Formats: sequence, C-alpha cells, structure tokens
Amino acid sequence: MTITPFGSLRTHGAGTLRAEHVGDTVTIAGWVDTRRDHGGVAFLDLRDRSGLVQVVADPEAGDALEAAHRVRSEWVVRVTGTVRARPEGMVNDRIDTGDVEVAATSIEVLSEAETPPFPVEDGIEVSEELRLKHRYVDLRRPKMAAILQLRSRATSVIRQVMDRHGFLDVETPILTRATPEGARDFLVPSRLQPGESYALPQSPQLFKQLLMVAGVERYYQIARCFRDENLRADRQPEFTQLDVELSFGDQEDVIAVMEELLAEVWREAIGVEVATPFTRLTYAEALARFGSDKPDLRIERMELATLNDVFADTEVGVFKGVLGDGGSVIALALPSGGDMTRKQFDDLVEWAKRRGAKGLAWGVVEDDGSLRSPLSKFMSEDEIAGVIATTDASAGDAIFFGAGETTFARELIGALRNHLAAERGLIGEGFRFCWIVDAPMFEPVEDRGEAVGSTAWTPVHHPFTAPTPEWMDRFEDSPGEALSNAYDVVCNGYELGGGSIRIHDREVQARVFRFLGISDEDAEERFGFLLRGLAHGAPPHGGIALGLDRLVMLLADATNIRDVISFPKTQTGGCPLTDAPAPYEEIALKELGLRLAPKPVKG
Ligand code: ASP
Repeated sequence: MTITPFGSLRTHGAGTLRAEHVGDTVTIAGWVDTRRDHGGVAFLDLRDRSGLVQVVADPEAGDALEAAHRVRSEWVVRVTGTVRARPEGMVNDRIDTGDVEVAATSIEVLSEAETPPFPVEDGIEVSEELRLKHRYVDLRRPKMAAILQLRSRATSVIRQVMDRHGFLDVETPILTRATPEGARDFLVPSRLQPGESYALPQSPQLFKQLLMVAGVERYYQIARCFRDENLRADRQPEFTQLDVELSFGDQEDVIAVMEELLAEVWREAIGVEVATPFTRLTYAEALARFGSDKPDLRIERMELATLNDVFADTEVGVFKGVLGDGGSVIALALPSGGDMTRKQFDDLVEWAKRRGAKGLAWGVVEDDGSLRSPLSKFMSEDEIAGVIATTDASAGDAIFFGAGETTFARELIGALRNHLAAERGLIGEGFRFCWIVDAPMFEPVEDRGEAVGSTAWTPVHHPFTAPTPEWMDRFEDSPGEALSNAYDVVCNGYELGGGSIRIHDREVQARVFRFLGISDEDAEERFGFLLRGLAHGAPPHGGIALGLDRLVMLLADATNIRDVISFPKTQTGGCPLTDAPAPYEEIALKELGLRLAPKPVKG
C-alpha cells in the first residue's frame, strides 16, 4: 500500500502547486475561499491546509463552469484540471502559488456549507465568543491554522530532544488524588465508591517522583494539568506542560537539557537562534535588580537602585518614616524621561496608587546636576548626588522613587520598569531567557493566599522541593531565609517553567510536612503513597515542567493564550462551542450521590 501525502481523493495540495507543475493534470480538494463569478468565466480560490490556489472555470469548462456558478464560500469541492501559467500581469506575488492557476475540467461538490459566521480571514473584527462557538471555522483562518502547525512542530522537536537524551514518555493518571501546586482541585465524584471523589491532577508531580523510585530514571510527558483558579489572560483551567524528571542528577543536568531543548525548539520552529547558556540570576538578585522574579531582560539598563544608604539621615519625611520602619527607598532612572509632562508624571502617580502604593515620588536630572522634583527642597546636595550616582542617571533622565516595605517597593518599581519600557518603546527585540535560581523555600501564607498546611508558611514551589544543602538541617530555624534547590526559566518577562531537586529522603519530607503544619496523620492520608515510595529506595532526583501553551504563545508572538489552544475556555471557564460546563441529567447525578446547586440568577 502506498501512503499518499494528500489522501487518495487528491493528487496535490492546493498550496503546493508551482510553475514546475505547469501542464500537469491535478486533482485538488478543499474549501472555497473566495469566488469571483464573471458569468462566462468564474474564479475560485481553493484553500486546504497547504495553502491556496486559484481555480478557473472557462467557458469551455462546461459542467465545471456550471458547478463554479453554484458553489459558495466554505463549500468543500474537488477540482480536476490542468495547471497553467497565469497570463503576464496576472501573477499574484502575495501567494506562494501566484504564478499558476488550475484550469478546471471538473468541479465536484463534496459538501455544502452554510454562510460562515464570519469571514475566514485574518484581522477580522469579530467577538471571541463567536470565534470560539464556531472554532472549526475560526481555525481555518490562516493565522490560527499557522499556530496549530507551529505548536505541532514545537512538540515534535521536544520529543526528538527528549528521545535523544534517553527520556521515556510515560503517561500518568488523570483520575487521581490531589497534588498540591497552589490551586484548587477539579473533582470527579466516584459512582463505584459513593461518598468519594477523584481529583484531576494539578500536575503529574507525585507520579513522576514515584517513576523515579520505579527506576525509570528519565521521564517526560506532554501532560494535561488542571487547576481551578480565577482565570487571567494567560491562564486556562486545563493546560499543557512538558513535564520532566531525572534521577542521579542535579540542577545542572536539568538546566543543560532544557537549554538545549529550548534552543532547538526556537531554531526549528521559528528559525531563531537563542543564546545559551542562559543568564542566571539568584532570586534575591532578580528582585533587587529588576523588582521581579520574572525579569524582562529585553529592557536594557533601567535597573532598580536601593537608596537606603543615601537617605540614611534624611530629612525627607516619607523616606525617613519608611526607613525607620525597616523598609526601603527604591529608585529607577528612565533614560530621557525628563521630556515627560507634568500630567504624565501625575498619571504615573495615579498608576502607582492603583497598585496600592501611597504615592510615587519623581524628579528630573537637570543639566547642572541638580534634581527638579517636588521633593528636592527637602534633599541635601549629597543626597541628590547620591541618588543620581546610585541610579546611574544622566542629565535629562527622570528618576522615580518608591518607598515602603522592601518587597512591596521593589515590586512596585519593578512593575513601573515594565510599564515605562512598554509605554516608551524601550523593550528590545528578540528573546531573552534567564534562570532564576536559589528561590526561598517558604513564603508567608498571607503573601500567597493559599496554604498547604496549617502554619503561617507555605512552599514557594511545592512541598516536595529540597532545600539547598546548607539549609537541609536547619530550614525550620529561619524559614524566611531558607533557600530551595529550585529553578525557574523565564523568557521576556514570562515564567516559562519551573522545577526543583526533590526531597528523596522520607525523613526530610516528613520534616517539611511537619513544619508546614501537616500532621503525620494528615500527611499519611494525603501523601502516604509518596512517603511509602520514598521508603522503598528513592534515588536522588529532580525535574522541571515547562508551560507548553505559554511557550507556543511566545513562539507565535500571540498575546492571548486561547489563541494557541485548539478548543480553549473563556475567562469564565466556559466553552462556547460545547456549552460546557452544563447542567447534568438528574439520574446520572443521583448515581453519583450529587445534587447541583441551582444556577444563580444573573442580576
Ligand atoms: N510540578 C511542578 C509544576 O507543575 C513542576 C516541577 O516541579 O517539576 O509546577
């Protein structure tokens, strides 16, 4: 049996026809993209996955011309005809097949279609709701079709790299128990075991660790994960990760494989060379220099400056108060920001207030080295000189000051850095990757909002992350300072993924649970299967997961995660195509022992 590249109903892909095919008889099939009917002659643009070609039904085409009169946009047709060169002056440079056309001898309608709900073109003004409802039409649009192909290319490269390095593709359950990754679980009540429920995995974390105990040594999976969170532009309730774990290695092994993989994906999928090794920053350094653990390194200069020493003896009331309370004064110089109007500065102050800041002080460096600022009359000359030197500002630059609790002030000025760079076109081209290493092991629950256990601390990553060796014996003593053996990979200000070396010692794992306020009993109930696994010969191991949807978003230069997912959910977690979630039949609910609360009346 021969396998035909385009299926046995066709001889060629519409988009593959070129001058070299002139004189050939071909059969193509696809959708009618556009139709121009001049009565005696009709033109159809025929579209399939490979592209688009012009079909001509001439007066001598007989039945084919009749059929061409009848067809409408988005009908599915099969055309047999001869490839001929387009007449001089009729060549269309905008399409790959623009040198040729197919003179039809027969046009067969394979399927009629209703008038499409919106034109199958890029750049149309149509609501996303309607696009999602008719996703099968939306995905025909060239941009969307290209993204699907790009995504497939990316996963294909991923598989090649993982294969090359000996990683086994192993599937893990979807109906399972909770895995704490900091979100709510989706539950699937059990019919066979009334009163009990499965949870959909927030990640395959515990299974991949158990696969290491099982001797798999190198695992990967392109895995669906489920997290019931409030949605944002770049989040979906179900999303895909490249999930990876390896044994007998350390952080460097994981980083090396991921750098090779990402470089290869970028090269093969979009033809871009990314520089390796990636920049490495410790978490503390990233926060101090960029005010973020996801710094956008495409923004040159514009690093944060800490002015606590400069203002140690200051008479500037707000700064004095903040420093007295143990906070910080953080500043940022904006190159040539002195050209901003008073109104623009005022708008930024309002912007900062909306983010919860009390205010945002600012100044402009004058040619004589002085600072034009509402605050300058309270600053000494030394302070002004210190500000300018520490922020590395020059004449004509603006300087912004955020004062408050240190992390808050850094994050505020870090966000301002992104905001100003975007507004003023200071974000460079290309892709800038970095690793953020040495993240803290724990953070206060109040900062995170979600707790794994019952104490005031919760893991920054997840509770299976190992402390760095120095903290192994004493993370409980200074939980706010203890560092974890975790690493995140960031690209252009997006967190692309994160992972860690895991705890492979049952005792250490039990200590972490205890520290988090998970009692031995509770740990046994929730994670007994992991603890038992760890007690049966667990090799040292670690891994990472990359968010595949975000990765494709970056490759495709998309701004909306829904554009890189075939059938995504809306911001409210609904699917306009299938209308999921939906009420369920009483009888099935009864079998599950469930009753759904009545749908709230929209008010
Ligand atoms: N399971 C983690 C996550 O989903 C990734 C990892 O630690 O490998 O974020």
